[in-house]
Amino acid sequence: MSEKQLHGTNLKLQNIFCIGRNYSEHAKELNNPVPTTPVVFTKPTSAVCYDGENIILPAQSDNVHHEVEIVVVIGKSGKNISESEAHKHISHIGIGLDLTARDLQDVAKAKSLPWSVCKGFDTFAALSHFEAFDGKVETLSNIEFELKINGEIRQSGNTSGMIFSIPYIVSYLSTIFTLSPGDIIFTGTPAGVGQLKVNDKLVAKIKDSVTLSLGVQKAQ
Ligand code: MG
Repeated sequence: MSEKQLHGTNLKLQNIFCIGRNYSEHAKELNNPVPTTPVVFTKPTSAVCYDGENIILPAQSDNVHHEVEIVVVIGKSGKNISESEAHKHISHIGIGLDLTARDLQDVAKAKSLPWSVCKGFDTFAALSHFEAFDGKVETLSNIEFELKINGEIRQSGNTSGMIFSIPYIVSYLSTIFTLSPGDIIFTGTPAGVGQLKVNDKLVAKIKDSVTLSLGVQKAQ
């Protein structure tokens, strides 16, 4: 178990699961096929940073992209969870950024190599404070969120636009991994991803709920 906190919860962070290409307009903007099963990857817990901190652009990349995503927290353990029961395993909802070294990812994709490096640098999993989930399954399919950079909206989305719904994702992941309290899931990004620059000011928001503010600096 990591010693990192999930702010707004009494849980310590465990596994970080991520879903790729979960909004069709985003899959298209990167010339990826729209998937027929969820694209799953993981991040190390060392990649986490929090509201008020800086994203660090690593020396190894010249093109780090922002991907704003709804993040859900698992509050109840399970394996082979049915889609109809999946919402009962979610305890909190927040917003995060799945930072991606797109240049390194392009090389990895071309060579059919894993994404651990391009997705795993320190600060590449930015997390907001989490709000308690109201337990209503319909809430999960209508979460409106956006990312502003330097005051300008760069990404906006609603979980209604997902290819694979949050309950489906939880159910699917649980057929592979035993899910435990403190596991989190990045659920995919809508269209509008783009490159970060030093000194950018990012503000990601869920409508009527949490905010995540971040700066950007180059690695020292
Ligand atoms: Mg992503």
